[in-house]
Amino acid sequence: MVTTQVIHSVAELQSVLNKHKASGKTIGFTPTMGALHNGHLTLMQQSKNENDISVCSIYVNPTQFDKKEDLVTYPMTLEADTALVQTIGVDYIFAPNNTEVYPNGMDQSVEVDLNGLDEVLEGAHRPGHFAGVVQVVHRLLDIVQPHHLYMGQKDFQQFTIIQQMLDALEMPIDLVVCPIAREDSGLARSSRNERLSTLDRARACIINQTLQELKEDLNNYSIQALLKKAEERLTWSWTNLEYIDIIDGKTLLSIAKQEEHDYIVAVVAVWIGGVRLIDNLVLRR
Ligand code: AMP
Repeated sequence: MVTTQVIHSVAELQSVLNKHKASGKTIGFTPTMGALHNGHLTLMQQSKNENDISVCSIYVNPTQFDKKEDLVTYPMTLEADTALVQTIGVDYIFAPNNTEVYPNGMDQSVEVDLNGLDEVLEGAHRPGHFAGVVQVVHRLLDIVQPHHLYMGQKDFQQFTIIQQMLDALEMPIDLVVCPIAREDSGLARSSRNERLSTLDRARACIINQTLQELKEDLNNYSIQALLKKAEERLTWSWTNLEYIDIIDGKTLLSIAKQEEHDYIVAVVAVWIGGVRLIDNLVLRR
């Protein structure tokens, strides 16, 4: 088994990766913000399976937080994360500080046309979030220059926007989207789940159940009726529904008639026990 090496500096990472690239090795890259769980590990495992060398980054990017208190309380667990990454045999963890990532300051945004993908759903509820995501992923890709980039379907809008960035800027990197890893209850794995009480964690399986029901009902109801049913199912004294929507998987816009779309996705954001949870399910592709 490979011993995972933790690297903090851009210069050192590029020096080791350049040697691998010069000998024709392929590089797979998984960006994360740490507080790792099995969902993250499935991305890294896929990178291991498909590349000669695998790199993951652990960097809590300040520019994508729309609420400062979320940044301050974000868990920093590099030691435990390193032990988990080691179990997969990832070759390198890149764990930079802010100066390594943003040597010229944090206010340098990436000029790219996102076709409005960043304005809906999470973008509408978290102002500036995707500008920060695009900024950090662009910078990390510039540093690592991988062949393959691994991201999770869990953040549907995020990978869609990053694919748009890769296309618009003609970056020669292949984005691999990995399925949502779930707990036994069906709840999508997330570092936020740790903040749920035992009761709320059990209750939160209602999110996946509602998405599954939407899929089963898709051919039998109108979009409006489907959404009404789902909203009712997600309305409890202990939930606070932020949005549930049925969208076109390419444009991310709400759809009115399912016959007019061939890629249909249900997306949801709901608060349970003071924790904001997101999930999604492809209803038709
Ligand atoms: P984060 O550290 O939360 O920014 O996530 C890093 C990457 O892991 C992103 O590409 C996420 O979409 C992905 N990810 C997070 N949770 C899951 C999950 N439950 N299943 C699959 N991928 C996930």
